[in-house]
Amino acid sequence: MTQRSRFSDTGALAALVAVGLTAWGVRGLGESAHSLHRVYEERMKPVRTLSQIAQHMLANQHQLQMALARLPHTGPPGRRTAPLDAATAHNAVSAIERNVQTIDTLWRGYVDRVAAHSAEQALAERFARKRADYLQLAMAPALAALRRLDAAQTLERADSAREYYERANEDIQALIDLQFDNARTAYETGMQRYQSTRTLALLALPGAMLLLALLGWWQIRSITQPLREVIAVFHRMAQGKHDSPITVPGSDEVSVLLRELRTLQTRLADNERAIHRLAYYDVLTDLPNRRLLRERIEQALQAHDTPTAHRALLLLDLDHFKTINDTLGHEVGDEFLRETTRRLRAQVQAPHFVARIGGDEFVVLTAPLDADPGHAQAQALALAQRVLAALVTPCQLAGQTLHGSTSIGLCLFQPGSASIKELLKRADLAMYQAKSAGRNQACVFDPTMATLVEERSALTAALRQGLLAGQFLLHFQPQVDALGQPLGAEALLRWQHPVHGLVPPGRFIPLAESSGLIIPLGQWVLQQACAQLKAWQAQPHARHLELAVNVSARQFHQPDFAATVLRTVQASGIDPTRLVLELTESLAMEDLDDTADKMELLRSHGVRFALDDFGTGYSSLSVLRQLPLQMLKIDGSFVRGVATDSDSAAIVHTIVGMAHSLGLQVVAEGVETPAQHQALHAQHCPCFQGYLFARPLSLADFDTWLQARVPIATKDEP
Ligand code: C2E
Ligand code: MG
Ligand code: MG
Repeated sequence: MTQRSRFSDTGALAALVAVGLTAWGVRGLGESAHSLHRVYEERMKPVRTLSQIAQHMLANQHQLQMALARLPHTGPPGRRTAPLDAATAHNAVSAIERNVQTIDTLWRGYVDRVAAHSAEQALAERFARKRADYLQLAMAPALAALRRLDAAQTLERADSAREYYERANEDIQALIDLQFDNARTAYETGMQRYQSTRTLALLALPGAMLLLALLGWWQIRSITQPLREVIAVFHRMAQGKHDSPITVPGSDEVSVLLRELRTLQTRLADNERAIHRLAYYDVLTDLPNRRLLRERIEQALQAHDTPTAHRALLLLDLDHFKTINDTLGHEVGDEFLRETTRRLRAQVQAPHFVARIGGDEFVVLTAPLDADPGHAQAQALALAQRVLAALVTPCQLAGQTLHGSTSIGLCLFQPGSASIKELLKRADLAMYQAKSAGRNQACVFDPTMATLVEERSALTAALRQGLLAGQFLLHFQPQVDALGQPLGAEALLRWQHPVHGLVPPGRFIPLAESSGLIIPLGQWVLQQACAQLKAWQAQPHARHLELAVNVSARQFHQPDFAATVLRTVQASGIDPTRLVLELTESLAMEDLDDTADKMELLRSHGVRFALDDFGTGYSSLSVLRQLPLQMLKIDGSFVRGVATDSDSAAIVHTIVGMAHSLGLQVVAEGVETPAQHQALHAQHCPCFQGYLFARPLSLADFDTWLQARVPIATKDEP
């Protein structure tokens, strides 16, 4: 991937600056050559001064010559007696005086600059002496002769002046040569230095540029390199990988950025882990959830490295968990689930896999088992048995001993043999088989179970049809007092199936509940019961009878249940106190406040309530007190052992005592033998229902049964 760096712009700028600097440097070199020239010029100044002095001295000679040149030739040279031309002599005097003046000024300017103790000073001193001689011994007498216009003297002095001049001139020429040599040497040395500096500069500048470029490149790289790392880390983070090692080298801005990135990465990784945990694990038990289970099953179905090995899927459903939850509360229910999880984990360890997929449903996915299906099934069943044994052990919760158990449905599979949905369905079918076979056991899926499901759906359709076709009827099971006299009856639903004959409620009530058909069916029962009570009201021998109607949980928890009952009762015109609604313990505990409210409302209109199958649930005395109950029905399972088993007898004794203390009526259900009747009687149980007195009877049979027990006096009443 080509990444355009923002620093390339900065690099270009740096190169531009370097080129500018170079140009500036070259220009600087030019300027130093120029200043070198100026230095040279400066050095040449004394040479010029000395030359001017020499020229002025020479000019003096010329002035003397010129003054003498105008002289008429009257005699031999050196013997001239005629006076000098006055104007010429005067001009010469003036010019010589100016020259002497100038020479003096020039000389003083020069002498000031002469360095002490140098060869130049020695020369200068010598020239100064000779100049002084020249001025005093030659020029002063010459000027005097000129002023007197004395040609002979002037001539003589001019000759002497030339001698002095020539002597002084030697020294001044020597001084000029010395100065000139000095200037030239200085210039040549400067020039040499300039040349080497120029060479050095021309070499150093590209070197500096290169160094600058390298530095710039290194600097840019020190930023872009970590930035590339950051980009790579972001890429990996975008792909959900949060484990890139990030090294933080120093404490500059880039390091701070990297450190922040590392913190961000750690935080994201933590969040991702938490999200993963929430998405794939059950919060209550910390077990993998349905989603993770599906992934594991998917992997197992695609495990082509072990194509022949079987695996097993075990679906666990806790028996009667709903009762624990409803009667002891959700907190105890939750703790029970956690305890179940602990026990499961102790039995099922990796490489086996456990998940919780619903309220009280767990699934075990085993590791690869044997290739032989028989052996694999034996292995899976052994595991299931261990789990059953672990979960059937009683546990202490909320100060109570809870007896849990589990039903397990098991199915085997090989990679690619079925879909996840199909496997879960098979395990579910097997689990239902375990439930209907009496719970606390494991059942292995067999294909015929699928037909059971089909049967269930066919039965549901038939139920719906039966309701429309009027195939339902009520049977009445009498309830009697200690003397066997009828107190009332319980209405028990029957289905007169055109093919299967009379079907008992245990076969279709659960299905009616799960399909929702219990709502119209329950309403039908209530209407029939009210109609029957209305009919009994008109019959003197039956007028006093109560009629109990069973109400299912789903029916009771309909929001309009109480209103519907009241409407039905009022529409039938019966005495509401004759109607008893039978509720189960788990139903009553499910939503205690709602239950109490509905009961209270109906109770205020006279309707009465009985708690059915009492003793099988976990309802406590305090809960019972909150509900407007009038009756407890002791479950048949306790009645069965009341004459023979001391535990059952003790329970019955407790229930009867409790009912008395709460002011409730008690009915013993399922009384089959005189011994049971006797024992119940001895326990002061006042009311009985069971085959000993009568089976559930058709209306006609009930009437016959009733007629047989009508006292003579009552029979005669109008
Ligand atoms: P339940 O309310 O506890 O009814 C008592 C059950 O015990 C009845 O079974 C009755 O036939 C049976 N029984 C009575 N005496 C004896 C006895 O001495 N020995 C034995 N072994 N059994 C006895 P049934 O009629 O099969 O009803 C079963 C359950 O179906 C009822 O239990 C009740 O929960 C439910 N049920 C019946 N009718 C209705 C209804 O109309 N609506 C609702 N929601 N449930 C109903
Ligand atoms: Mg009942
Ligand atoms: Mg009962």
